[in-house]
Amino acid sequence: MPQERLQKIIANRGAVSRRRAETLIELGRVKVDGKVITEKGFKTNLDAFIEIDNREVVKQNDKYYYLFNKPRFVLTTMYDPKGRKTVADFFKDVPARVYPVGRLDYDVSGLLIMTNDGDFANFVMHPRYEFLKTYQALCQGNVSPMAVKQLIKGVTIDEDYRTQAVSAKLLSYNPETNQSVVELTIAEGKKHHVKKMLEAAGMNLLKLKRTKVEFLTLDNLDLGHYRDLTPHEVKQFY
Ligand code: URA
Repeated sequence: MPQERLQKIIANRGAVSRRRAETLIELGRVKVDGKVITEKGFKTNLDAFIEIDNREVVKQNDKYYYLFNKPRFVLTTMYDPKGRKTVADFFKDVPARVYPVGRLDYDVSGLLIMTNDGDFANFVMHPRYEFLKTYQALCQGNVSPMAVKQLIKGVTIDEDYRTQAVSAKLLSYNPETNQSVVELTIAEGKKHHVKKMLEAAGMNLLKLKRTKVEFLTLDNLDLGHYRDLTPHEVKQFY
């Protein structure tokens, strides 16, 4: 029977990431054949009986896909050393360790796909395929049609990177609050992409929400809730 490092076997079974497995081993929370292992670099058989916190780490063959409505002030990571809320906190009861496809900033809400299918995640995240993402931005003031047009014509972010929205429109203006809602669709996804675009167009962003990824929409999904993607929806991406 071939042997492999313990943290790698745990990660390959889809339980937690390799880095997280290393931490759990260090903390004495991992057992192999009933014995706590804390030794760095410990190797064991691929079919070893492994437990984390006394729960067996079984191989996960099944693929799971979820559409999640991420609230603001939730990290798009699986674990935060500072103890802040992460998307993983919402997926404790699902049968596999699902992780986010792409990211939304801490203070951004909205549509996020979660899956344990690495191939699917890599495919959807790959810039080459330019999947469309739509955002609604609540902005301070009465945003001018010129500024909205500028998003489509193109703006410069990150000093010299030219980028443009696939579409953009002013959805509403509320004179009572003096706030506007701008909707824009982009095919790219650099870090803070939308925030930087809005800033470059002179808009004063208050809140950002992702409402669509390609054909997927949030519909009536409440914040902090998720639903399964249908097999048909998954196929539409490939
Ligand atoms: N653009 C941003 O600025 N932030 C996000 O979270 C997503 C897109």
